[in-house]
Amino acid sequence: MVTQATKGYIEIDQERCKGCSFCIEYCPKKAIFLTDKLNLKGYFVATYKEGNGCTGCAICAIVCPEVAIEVYRGGTA
Ligand code: SF4
Ligand code: SF4
Repeated sequence: MVTQATKGYIEIDQERCKGCSFCIEYCPKKAIFLTDKLNLKGYFVATYKEGNGCTGCAICAIVCPEVAIEVYRGGTA
């Protein structure tokens, strides 16, 4: 099976996330989704989905008002 090459990936600190969906709106690869999981503050949290071709562009991290996203480049996760 051939999968799209991944140039980056992200990690979301779910306890910082407030579920605002900015990262979801701005990700050009649509690689982030809102879950139905609540964090300790009672917010639905965003999660990264592997295999959607994250480029490591860091737009998600830039728009996140809670600084909840770390971007890694050159990975395959
Ligand atoms: S780094 Fe870019 S492509 Fe990857 S999840 Fe964030 S906005 Fe999407
Ligand atoms: S932009 Fe930040 S706070 Fe908003 S949903 Fe994404 S990770 Fe959560």
